Amino acid sequence: MNAGFDRMLGAELQRLKDGGTYKRLRHLTTPMAPQVKMEEAGEVLVLSSNDYLGLADDPQVIEGGVAALRTYGAGTASVRFICGTFDIHRRLERRLAACFGFEAALSYVSCWSANTGLIPTLAVEGTAIVSDELNHASIIDGCRLATQAKRLRYKHGDMADLEAQLAGLPREMTKFIVTDGVFSMEGDLARLPEIAALAQRYDAVSIVDDSHGTGVMGATGRGTIEHYGLQGKIDILTGTLGKALGGAAGGFVCGSANVVDMLIQRSRPQLFSNALPCTVAGSALAALDQLEQRPELVARLRANTQWFREALRRMGYRPLAGEAAIIPIIVGETAFAIKMSERLLEEGLFVTGFGYPVVPEGTARIRVQMSAALDRPQLEHALAIFERVGRELGVLATA
Ligand SMILES: *Cc1c(COP(=O)(O)O)cnc(C)c1O
Repeated sequence: MNAGFDRMLGAELQRLKDGGTYKRLRHLTTPMAPQVKMEEAGEVLVLSSNDYLGLADDPQVIEGGVAALRTYGAGTASVRFICGTFDIHRRLERRLAACFGFEAALSYVSCWSANTGLIPTLAVEGTAIVSDELNHASIIDGCRLATQAKRLRYKHGDMADLEAQLAGLPREMTKFIVTDGVFSMEGDLARLPEIAALAQRYDAVSIVDDSHGTGVMGATGRGTIEHYGLQGKIDILTGTLGKALGGAAGGFVCGSANVVDMLIQRSRPQLFSNALPCTVAGSALAALDQLEQRPELVARLRANTQWFREALRRMGYRPLAGEAAIIPIIVGETAFAIKMSERLLEEGLFVTGFGYPVVPEGTARIRVQMSAALDRPQLEHALAIFERVGRELGVLATA
């Protein structure tokens, strides 16, 4: 290793440590579930995974992956268009398209890969992308890769700003509006009815990344589009298999047959990077079975979220309002949020604190993520810890 460069990295890492933003990995020795064993903290209750439906260690989902491993072996050892497409990919993609109400779907190894593969493929020279300023990093990077397109941002959830930006573009220019369905730091929803209407008025193509909404929002967990009753009104959907749908990895794009066909032709992660492992496809298919056969999972997730948010509020916390399964509690300074999450972990509760630069300084937060797998005694235990630590640190409002 180049010693001078390595020293430079060391100094930069030390600055992160001094600034309190250095991340330390924690190691689980058991499957993702409400209760896990963590090398650094022992037995802890997890309220910060994306395992919204509790499917990560579901026996059927595990079995789906094991069966696919036996049938197809460990990997594709190829990209899709050479010899890396197995029939299970087609099965998964047809299933995803049908599940979310689109003509076609294409899988990627992650939603990160889906967004960074989709956006630059469609947003070529002579087009414009208008993107919510709080969109996920993978959308931001996807836009950055669209070097030939005009790239604009609108203020978070500000439909007047979105409209002004659309109105400023030439009429005949192809335009894309891109947004998260559920925003991960605020837990709020994109205003999809207005976005769909603006897309229609300005002849724009709407793209929604519903990674945090898939399996969570809507009566049957089909996501934020279902929540608003907008099936058929959004042009392109991207999502992850790494959150509610089994939690392993994998992402997808749903759209028209032409959109998917163009991605097969030109999307760079499709052309130059391996296909989704068949084991993950097998688990994801089983997770879709669970979503369809057990609607009570979505109902329980929703009931848990409402109950927990309300209980926090009664206790004197000020969680942000919202309909998704993300409950952010604003606590102020970054260092305080980190200290609070450390105290909660010492008490046996794993929730993450987020601060600057992920969110603006002064709005650092503890982010609770709910799961259908958490039972009432576990939620009550988590609340007791929140009460103890909240009192100790003086964050509870006094009624
Ligand atoms: C989590 C997330 C992703 C990344 O998903 P992966 O499949 O883990 O790459 C992309 N977009 C949004 C909005 C997300 O929340």
